[in-house]
Amino acid sequence: MMFADLPLANPLQRAIRAVGYETPTPIQEKSIPSLLEGRDLLGIAQTGTGKTAAFALPILQRLLESGNFRAPKTCRVLVLLPTRELAIQVEECFRQYAQFTAISTACIFGGVNDASQKRNLIRGVDVLVATPGRLLDLIGQKAVSLKKLEVFVLDEADRMLDMGFIHDIRKVVALLPPNRQNLFFSATMPDSILDLAKSILHADPVRVEVAPQSTPIERIHQELYRIDKRRKDALLKELLACHPEMQKVLVFCRTKHGADKIVRVLEKAGVKCSAIHGNKSQNRRQEALGKFKKEEIRVLVATDIAARGIDVDDVSHVFNYDLPNEPETFVHRIGRTARAGKDGVAIAFCAPDEEQDLRAIEKLTRVRIPEEDKSVFGRLPPPQKETPESERRNARGRMPREKKQKENAPREKGAAPKPAVKQSPKQAPKQVPVAKNAPQPAKPAQNQAPVAKSGDSQPAPFKKRHRRNRPGSRARRRMRASGDAG
Ligand code: AMP
Repeated sequence: MMFADLPLANPLQRAIRAVGYETPTPIQEKSIPSLLEGRDLLGIAQTGTGKTAAFALPILQRLLESGNFRAPKTCRVLVLLPTRELAIQVEECFRQYAQFTAISTACIFGGVNDASQKRNLIRGVDVLVATPGRLLDLIGQKAVSLKKLEVFVLDEADRMLDMGFIHDIRKVVALLPPNRQNLFFSATMPDSILDLAKSILHADPVRVEVAPQSTPIERIHQELYRIDKRRKDALLKELLACHPEMQKVLVFCRTKHGADKIVRVLEKAGVKCSAIHGNKSQNRRQEALGKFKKEEIRVLVATDIAARGIDVDDVSHVFNYDLPNEPETFVHRIGRTARAGKDGVAIAFCAPDEEQDLRAIEKLTRVRIPEEDKSVFGRLPPPQKETPESERRNARGRMPREKKQKENAPREKGAAPKPAVKQSPKQAPKQVPVAKNAPQPAKPAQNQAPVAKSGDSQPAPFKKRHRRNRPGSRARRRMRASGDAG
């Protein structure tokens, strides 16, 4: 079957050609005809199967045919999704497919100011894509009403429940008019989800079940590097330098701080990259994602939470810089490549303390990940003797308190006299101009300050340890003792 064979209006056929689809995917083939008849649908399908077009195209056809018009502060179609990233993507798809029609779309989600979202709803909208919390908030503010709704779509239902949205969903469903078409999608269908589906769908919905296009494991070329944690940065840099075909690279790591650190290291090596994680504002995340999609940056570093549901075409390589604790997360991560029939490569870095995670992944996927040619290790610089401070910091980028004290201890007990005034790390740089008046200190050797090279902020204890033996510092202490240093 070809798209041209489906009874879709000309503006939709034009849009399908413009986005480059020729043949419908299995879920599209199974769903579109029934949805065009106005039936309810229970779909068991994951992202990556072409699910969005499977529901968006027949919905748009229905809107074009019905002859109804949107009323102020209402919507005709509501698509409910668990995350803002997914909501933005799905609205983008609707907009693409509706580009040659007068159908309007809007997207509302939390975490940002609601003023522009409310403005977009004033004249009413045909398709509203929303996350549950912000939708209820705007309904409460009377910015939008669901009383004119014609089609309701609940997407990613299992994830909705995982994220604790069940009460919000029930509140939204209670506000829907009874005469509507319902579409319910979930990647899995345990009893709890089935009960929810039954409470939303009319009797006798069409049931469509589609396995993922192929399990990622079958189509993804996998590689494994067993590597010391301290050499992962160097290995990542080396692989990116040697493989120009790594053009659209997604790097997964466990922590927000870890993601920022990788970006610093890669930027220093001249690699265009950006990070998305929970500490970044929604706008910054969207900006980074946009640049990645347009290939303005080569590498996107992400934590799992931030990467939920991001859908970028043509990801050439996925790196598991850290192995996840949950083997299912590994499958999700590598599933970002090899989409829509394309090939992809997934590269895993495994430190000695991650062997257990690797075993769990191999057990779940029933695939032994082949270990890569180790010759690349010979090209890496030797590991740093000390774990860089940046790796010891917690997720907020702060050093654990006890460690700070421990590090201070030898300095305070050392041969050099204790400074008369206790310095905070912030005060230290202020004292440098004073030292300038004294004889110029010798430049510290490069290898004495490995932390400074990593681009992290200078840790005060390290810095002072160098300074203590420098003439400038002695002069400064003498001046401070006599009250001149201020
Ligand atoms: P989805 O499952 O809706 O997230 O779609 C996954 C990817 O497949 C998206 O990048 C779509 O643009 C793409 N896609 C959807 N339908 C088709 C199709 N019939 N032919 C080619 N690509 C498609």
